[in-house]
Amino acid sequence: MAAHANFFDEVNQSFDVAATFTDYPKGLLDQIRCCNSVYRFDFPLRRQDGSIEVIHAWRAEHSHHKLPVKGGIRYSPDVYEEEVMALAALMTYKCAIVDVPFGGAKGGIRIDPARYTVEELERITRRYTHELVKKGFIGPGIDVPAPDYGTGEREMAWIADTYAALNPAQIDAMGCVTGKPVAQGGVSGRREATGRGLYFALREACQQTELMQPLGLSLGLEGKRVVVQGLGNVGYHAAKFCREGGAVLVALAEREGAIFCEAGLNEEAVFQHRKQTGSLLNFPGATNLPSSAAALELPCDVLIPAALEGVFTAENAPRIQARIILEGANGPTTPDADPIFRAKGTLVIPDIYCNAGGVTVSYFEWLKNLSHVRFGRMSKRHEQRNELQMLRAIETATGKRFTEEERAEIAKGPDEADLVNSGLEETMISALHDLLDTRRRHPGVPDLRIAAFLSAIHKVAHTYMQMGIFP
Ligand code: GLU
Repeated sequence: MAAHANFFDEVNQSFDVAATFTDYPKGLLDQIRCCNSVYRFDFPLRRQDGSIEVIHAWRAEHSHHKLPVKGGIRYSPDVYEEEVMALAALMTYKCAIVDVPFGGAKGGIRIDPARYTVEELERITRRYTHELVKKGFIGPGIDVPAPDYGTGEREMAWIADTYAALNPAQIDAMGCVTGKPVAQGGVSGRREATGRGLYFALREACQQTELMQPLGLSLGLEGKRVVVQGLGNVGYHAAKFCREGGAVLVALAEREGAIFCEAGLNEEAVFQHRKQTGSLLNFPGATNLPSSAAALELPCDVLIPAALEGVFTAENAPRIQARIILEGANGPTTPDADPIFRAKGTLVIPDIYCNAGGVTVSYFEWLKNLSHVRFGRMSKRHEQRNELQMLRAIETATGKRFTEEERAEIAKGPDEADLVNSGLEETMISALHDLLDTRRRHPGVPDLRIAAFLSAIHKVAHTYMQMGIFP
């Protein structure tokens, strides 16, 4: 059992603070915060050596106010029921904040994937999917899983294939899961989406005088010193996009320890070093730090936890020197750490807003699966022609001649990746302004996390009220 056993209660603590800024009836608030269904199940796995092992698994559907419900599946030896419920709740609020029309869900299988062969992992994933199908806990209109900690495109492809095999007549079967490989119904940009969304969130926050001035920081991301904890899909891409956007990666942390380099690290070089040596320690030109925890306490402008929940607690929060915390992981800050960060003037950009890029692009993937057509397929050439005509008109009017490179850059016609990334950018920018507006309209709201919960509560409450269930 993980140390962080009250995770669901902790999510509800933030919810309850936000709820005090509303006047919804208690029954409505109770309905929003409870976890609607939890399916807990065990199944046997025959290991490669012939022995049988019982596998423990869950799928929690937090809120059915919109369908399907949506959220990743986690493979970790520490998965437990309260955790899956808490993560499902965070998905409900996250989807509401970025206007993705889904309820929240989360799944988990209690395994350490490193201890199983690929064949065993495939059997576990297919059997898990089978169990979900049997109980109606998966389907394009019911519940749509996605990757999370310990899972990725490979697992999503197995899930889609198993679901499609069990539902041969279902034309929308591919929409039963997102985060699939592009060749198997995925969408371009989904792999990078959470990291890219974190970057858009940070870049936009760094442009706001109302956020940067109290921190004593200059506007813009350029030159900001960033520390990233976790070099998985989320951390790696957050590091990459922040570095490409002008930030300096001064430290990277993983399970085995952390490395520091004042001049800046390159996440891809560190990733390759870790792949070759099995550790990010001893990276040429960098200093080893004794532990991942030590990296969190370095002086820096931006700290990005991108691993698991419960990283910042009342115990270590006083020692965190970062000016901005960008929550790539779900639930990295426990509620007792939040007031400490507020008192120190640390800006916490909350998970339920800033890591919503993943589910946002999952939504685009689901739309692509239901429409059975790649984004841009109908319009790319048409737009390219319009852009070329515009260029020619400018050339005629001004006498200027564009070079072939300029022509190719301007008259490109958007492809799927361009459309997905611009949809993500728009989503992250407008959601931040929604949160800032919410904070302005409720002067007592203590921080952006509570503003985010408040915004989510309003949106979910309105859906229930539109259904006529609550007055
Ligand atoms: N597991 C991711 C999250 O926590 C993505 C969920 C999804 O795409 O449905 O946000």
